Amino acid sequence: MPARTSTAIVLGAGVVGVTTAYALAQRGIQVTLVDRHVEPAMGTSHANGAQLSYLYTDALASPRIWRQLPALLLGQDSAFRFKIRPDPDYAFWLLAFLRNCTPARFERNTLATFELAMESRLRMDELLARHELKFDHVENGKMHLYADAGLRPLVEEIRRLKPADAEEQVILSHEEACAIEPTLVTANPKPAFVLYSPKEAVGDPYRFARELLGVLKAQYGVAARFGEEAVGLEETGGEAVLTLESGETLPADQVVVCTGLPPRFLKGMGLKLPICPMKGYSFTAPAGPAAPEVSLTDTLRRTVITRLGNAVRVAGLADLGWRETGIDQTRLESLIRAAREGLPQAADYEATYNHWTGLRPMTPDSQPRIGRLSPVIAYNLGHGMLGWTLAMGSSERLGRLITGNAQPMPDRKDIANAC
Ligand SMILES: Cc1cc2nc3c(=O)[nH]c(=O)nc-3n(C[C@H](O)[C@H](O)[C@H](O)COP(=O)(O)OP(=O)(O)OC[C@H]3O[C@@H](n4cnc5c(N)ncnc54)[C@H](O)[C@@H]3O)c2cc1C
Repeated sequence: MPARTSTAIVLGAGVVGVTTAYALAQRGIQVTLVDRHVEPAMGTSHANGAQLSYLYTDALASPRIWRQLPALLLGQDSAFRFKIRPDPDYAFWLLAFLRNCTPARFERNTLATFELAMESRLRMDELLARHELKFDHVENGKMHLYADAGLRPLVEEIRRLKPADAEEQVILSHEEACAIEPTLVTANPKPAFVLYSPKEAVGDPYRFARELLGVLKAQYGVAARFGEEAVGLEETGGEAVLTLESGETLPADQVVVCTGLPPRFLKGMGLKLPICPMKGYSFTAPAGPAAPEVSLTDTLRRTVITRLGNAVRVAGLADLGWRETGIDQTRLESLIRAAREGLPQAADYEATYNHWTGLRPMTPDSQPRIGRLSPVIAYNLGHGMLGWTLAMGSSERLGRLITGNAQPMPDRKDIANAC
C-alpha cells in the first residue's frame, strides 16, 4: 500500500461506485469516478426493485434448491432459468453454487450478509442525517406474501436464524397484514401468512446516485469522467494506472473497481472472481387504485412490488448466465402478467413504462467480494440481488480496507478461489 492514499479512481458509478466514492472522499481522499455511461446508475443499479431489504438477506444457494432442481432443469420454472454454456468459468460457478446449497453454508452466508446489511442500514442513516438526498426514500416496511401454509415452519426457522427481534420481523395472518396494508384484500391468492418487516425501506437508486454525486462534487471535490470506457489497468512505479479506450491513461494511488461484474482485464491480471450475471427485468407503472404503501414480495411468482412516489416499480425474473441486456419481450410480458395476476389493482398495467433489464452480479455464496488485487488496486464487486441494500456497508468496509483499519471480514481469506 502507498504510504498514504491521497488520490483514488473509482471505476463504475452504479450504487456501489458512488457509495465507494463517498466512503473514500470522507477519508480525505481525492476521488475521480469513471464510467462508460453519461451519468451515474445507468447499469444494473438503474431501475432495480428499489427495495432496501436489510432483513431479507437469505442466500440464493439453499438446501431447497435440490428439490427445485428437476423443475429448473426441465425449464418448468417460469421465474428462474439458466443457460447451458460451454464455459469452464460458468461450470465452476454452477458447481460452487451447488456446494453452497448445504444447510450450514446457507446459514453462514445468510448471516454474513445480514451482518453487512445491518452495517449498511446504519451507514445509510448516517449519510441521510448528514446530507439531504431526495430519492423517494421511505421506511414503510416490507411484506413477503406466502400462499403455501406449509412453508411457515421453514420461514420461521430462517427468521429465528437472524438476530432480529419481533419489532424487526414478525409473522402475520392475512387479516393482521390487511390491517397494516389494506390493499392486500386484493391479493390473489389470499396469502396463507405474511412475513412482515416494519422497518424495511425503499428508495429510487438512480435518483440516489445522482443526488449523492451532486453532494460529492459540491462538498467533497469529487471529479467525474462519464462516457469513458476503461480498457486496461496496471500497476507501475507504485501507482495504479487506468487506461481508457481513447488511449488516455489515468494514474492514482488507488484504483477501486466497482463495475458489478468484473471487467475482462482483471482476469488478465490474475484475479478470477466467481461472479456470474443473472438477468432480471423491471417495469414501472402509474400507481393503481390498490397500490400498496408497504413494499411486497409475492413469493409464489417471485416478483417484488415497490411504491415509488406516485408510481409502482415491479421487478423479477432470474435468467442465470444471460450476458446481454436486451429486452426479451416474452419475458417482460410474463413479468407484467405475473404482477397483474398477483395484485390486479396495484398498478395501471396498461400504462407501463421504463421497461428495463439488468445483470445481477451473482456470487455462488451471495456475498460481495471486497478486497485487494495489489497494494494499489482494490475491488468492491458481486453484490448480486442486494447491491442497493448492501452498497453503503460494503463501501464502508472497502474504505476501511484502503485506509488500513479494516476489521476482520468473514471468510475473506478465500476471496480468490471463493466458495
Ligand atoms: C431486476 C433486478 C431487481 C433488483 N432489485 C433489487 C432490490 O430491490 N434491492 C437491492 O438491494 N438490489 C436489487 N437488485 C440488485 C442491484 O441492482 C445490484 O446488485 C446493484 O445495482 C449492483 O450495483 P453496482 O454498482 O455494483 O453495479 P452497476 O450498477 O452495474 O454499476 C457498474 C457500473 O460500472 C460501469 N462499468 C462497467 N465496466 C466499465 C468499464 N470497462 N469502463 C467504464 N465503466 C464501466 C457501468 O457502466 C456501470 O455504471 C436488483 C437487480 C435486478 C437486475
